[in-house]
Amino acid sequence: MKVFDLALRCDFLLTLEGGKTDCLRDQVIGISQSKIDAIFPWAEGLTKTPWRAKEFIHAKDQVVLPGLVNTHTHLAMSLFRGLADDLPFNDWLYKAILPAESKRVDAEFVRVGTRLAALECIQSGVTTVCDMYYFENIVAEELERAGLRAVVGEAITDFPAPDDKLLNGEKYKILEQMVERYGSSQTITPCVAPHAPYTCSDETIQAAVKFASRHQLPLMIHVAETLPENSESMKKYSKTSVQRLHDLGVMSSPHIFAHCTHVTDEDIALMARAHTGVAYNPESNMKLGVGAAPFSKLVKAGIAVGLGTDGAASNNDLSILREADTAAKLQKLSQSNSIAMTASDALRAATIEGARALGLDKVTGSLEPGKFADLICIDVSTPQMIPHFDFPSLLVYSSAGAGVKTVICHGKILLEEGNVKTLDAKRVCADALAYQPLIQSSITV
Ligand SMILES: [Zn+2]
Repeated sequence: MKVFDLALRCDFLLTLEGGKTDCLRDQVIGISQSKIDAIFPWAEGLTKTPWRAKEFIHAKDQVVLPGLVNTHTHLAMSLFRGLADDLPFNDWLYKAILPAESKRVDAEFVRVGTRLAALECIQSGVTTVCDMYYFENIVAEELERAGLRAVVGEAITDFPAPDDKLLNGEKYKILEQMVERYGSSQTITPCVAPHAPYTCSDETIQAAVKFASRHQLPLMIHVAETLPENSESMKKYSKTSVQRLHDLGVMSSPHIFAHCTHVTDEDIALMARAHTGVAYNPESNMKLGVGAAPFSKLVKAGIAVGLGTDGAASNNDLSILREADTAAKLQKLSQSNSIAMTASDALRAATIEGARALGLDKVTGSLEPGKFADLICIDVSTPQMIPHFDFPSLLVYSSAGAGVKTVICHGKILLEEGNVKTLDAKRVCADALAYQPLIQSSITV
């Protein structure tokens, strides 16, 4: 008899295998250690294939789907949520966020902010995050403790970063420590993250490329977020940001580009050839008024496009299902085309395509035997989730990111019946609130 560590009976199941978004009824997912061992109809398990499980969950009146993937965020910036909303982009960045970061961001800030964000991720069904910030060794520690899967990108810039003062000029010390500690980790992937083409010189970017290729790490960077970024790049280098990064070697090994709001057809051709992973951040792009990424063109070129929330200072939440809703509607609006991005497209971007953008599609992003057990259960018995004609539509357009009951990552239960098992939710929120007066006093707008 087959014995699973954990078995989950799913009233409704979307596996996303092969990108398919059709719904299977009354299935069982058997989990052994951290991986999906088998998926089979409940009725078949009663007759043909005898099994039992050490732990059993019936996801009654719930839809089970892969854990959501957030391909671009700055988790610790959750402490800046609502601090400087509705400002011009340059005021937002140079008068609020950067001054607050230079005065307030230290290891403790990052720890407290990351814990708050990890709590929100778990409660909203995110099991994989790709983060870019400072003190990423702390981010990695906190995400590992919370039980999430993560790509953790230590940010590199020309200007002194908040963690530089502790590094004695050794910009790569934190990354070296992370390579050492997480080299064989199945859940944490260190990453080199030069911040953006406009905050990094050629030399800074080349040094990042060299480090990434020496340690076989992925590289991530904000790219073509705003129109002025591209026009400045043309003025200074006679190249778009993408062309410049290509010529500097960024695209010759695994890499993730965040935003790509203003990429040209030539840029897209370069990106397709280089297997660029793209993080599409519609809510941040809309809130900062920078534009809409050309989703259809990117997908048509074969590029993996995932969804990112960006930081909570420009979104202001970390819900990937809400992002999926906005993602589809922004495409329909900007293209004047109601099928420019469908609910199924958005759900794929939130799961398997997000995993592919991060180079993690062999291990997560869909529910298939052999992959790690990263999955979530969402209540479909609430009024806004009835009737059950179309599950991708319900999840993307109706759920508003709510109703997450159970979250399992790497075979471990992180959320059970709405209760987070790996974090003390009350304590995490109280610690974050205690930071508010300190942050408020540090900005100039
Ligand atoms: Zn960002």
